[in-house]
Amino acid sequence: MRINIIGAGPVGSHAAYLLAKDHDVHLYEEHKEIGTPIQCTGLLTSSLTEVIKPSHEYITNITSNIEIVAPNGQILNLKAKEYLVNRTLFDQHLAKKAQDAGATIHTNTRFITKQNNSITVRNNNNPQTHKNDILIGADGANSTVAKLINKTKPKYCVGIQARVKGTFNPSTYTVYFDNNISPGFFAWTVPETKTTARVGLKGTSTHFETFLKKHNFTKLEMQAGPIPIYNPNYTTEKHNIFLIGDAATQVKATTAGGIIPGMKAAKCLAQAIKTNQNYTKLWKKTVGKDLWLHLKIRHALNKFSNNDWNTMVMLMNQKKVIGILQKYDREKPFKLLKVILKEPRLAWFARHALG
Ligand SMILES: Cc1cc2nc3c(=O)[nH]c(=O)nc-3n(C[C@H](O)[C@H](O)[C@H](O)COP(=O)(O)OP(=O)(O)OC[C@H]3O[C@@H](n4cnc5c(N)ncnc54)[C@H](O)[C@@H]3O)c2cc1C
Repeated sequence: MRINIIGAGPVGSHAAYLLAKDHDVHLYEEHKEIGTPIQCTGLLTSSLTEVIKPSHEYITNITSNIEIVAPNGQILNLKAKEYLVNRTLFDQHLAKKAQDAGATIHTNTRFITKQNNSITVRNNNNPQTHKNDILIGADGANSTVAKLINKTKPKYCVGIQARVKGTFNPSTYTVYFDNNISPGFFAWTVPETKTTARVGLKGTSTHFETFLKKHNFTKLEMQAGPIPIYNPNYTTEKHNIFLIGDAATQVKATTAGGIIPGMKAAKCLAQAIKTNQNYTKLWKKTVGKDLWLHLKIRHALNKFSNNDWNTMVMLMNQKKVIGILQKYDREKPFKLLKVILKEPRLAWFARHALG
């Protein structure tokens, strides 16, 4: 059976790796070099170990502390191990794993369309037709494959990011909640070293320039890109077409992190194909519930005033709550919410915020 996977991002390559053992897998990437250009911070929770074994081949830094800054300057510190990956090396590592498992990689090759039993791709402007049994769209936020099975486009937000020079504590990444910096979202500073970091926010270029100026950061390179907002009603499978990763909107709406949920969905798809199960049911059971809760929380956060952010950080800044927050990472908001609801003041705040 020939399986054509469009997009050699982390999610497409992971699916190719998982499927290549049993099938004739072809992975198509429109860029000449896998992993470029970069449009991502590359910060991954310790749940990365649930999808792959982390390797120093692509890890730039490992942080152990999250510093959360409220609009009134209050600071909450949480202990958490997180991996900062070099997206070029990370994507290339996953593509190499897929290739070693038997997948054929076609770089500089853009997917154009699908016919009944074949697909058309363009390599160096030369159209080519290939046999197709299964088509997998892992072609990111602007997925061409997704348009084949969805009439409407998903909603997006834009993340603006740059690599910057400055002074940083390499073990701590910082999150700034403040509607004047990033309305309804947050700004982040993730250190690569003592002198370089990846800094970003959701907002306009004016918000971004103001943030850089305030912290005296010097821009090295810009890395912006669209981030799909999770849509639980999006069609992710029809006949022999399947969507995974950003192409399927499988992104945490609270933080815009899509790598781990996308890779988990890729595993669900490989299992569904192998065991002839329904892919949509499988990924919704595995990551869909948590993505849904992230979306609900996002809707609540969109309405937060700076006073709400101050209250939330103040309520979280208690020894017992910090213990809970440090126990579960943000991949599992259901587990976190369950425990938080047992804390009376936080329960009241969560109910008030979630409406
Ligand atoms: C500023 C910013 C910061 C982010 N930070 C984080 C973070 O810290 N942690 C995190 O988990 N997530 C983060 N994300 C989200 C993360 O980048 C995505 O969720 C992740 O890249 C999704 O992986 P993917 O493989 O589904 O898609 P992609 O990584 O987008 O890969 C899709 C691939 O498909 C290729 N492609 C597209 N169309 C075609 C075509 N027609 N033919 C052939 N190839 C095609 C593209 O070239 C690309 O290589 C961030 C996003 C942005 C914009």
